Amino acid sequence: MRWEDICSRCGLCCHEKTIYPDALEIDLSSPCLFYDSSTHECRVYQQRFSKCRRCRKVTPLTAIFSRSLPDSCAYVEWAARHHLRMRRRKELVLTEGHVSQP
Ligand code: SF4
Ligand code: SF4
Repeated sequence: MRWEDICSRCGLCCHEKTIYPDALEIDLSSPCLFYDSSTHECRVYQQRFSKCRRCRKVTPLTAIFSRSLPDSCAYVEWAARHHLRMRRRKELVLTEGHVSQP
C-alpha cells in the first residue's frame, strides 16, 4: 500500500481549525479554496503545495506528532496502531463558523 492510500479522504484537514490543549475544533463551513466537497478531494492535488501556502504534506512524523490532525485521521490511526502516537486528544469539535484563524 502506498503512503497516500492510507488517507480516507474525510477532508477534515482541509478546513480551518483551532487547536486547544485538549481539543481540536474544525470549522466545516471553512473549507480550503481547493477542496471539492462533492468528491472530498483536492482539486489541485499535484500542485497543492505551490497553490496553497498553508497546505502541509502528511508524513510519518506528522502522523505521530501533529496536533492539527484529528484522532480520526487515518494517518493518526496508523500511528496509534503502531504504538507511535502516545497522547490522544480528548475531543474533536466540529463547528459551522466562529472559528478563529489558526
Ligand atoms: S490544497 Fe491542501 S488543504 Fe487545500 S484542499 Fe488541497 S490538500 Fe486540502
Ligand atoms: S484528516 Fe487525515 S484521513 Fe482525513 S483527509 Fe486529512 S489526511 Fe486524509
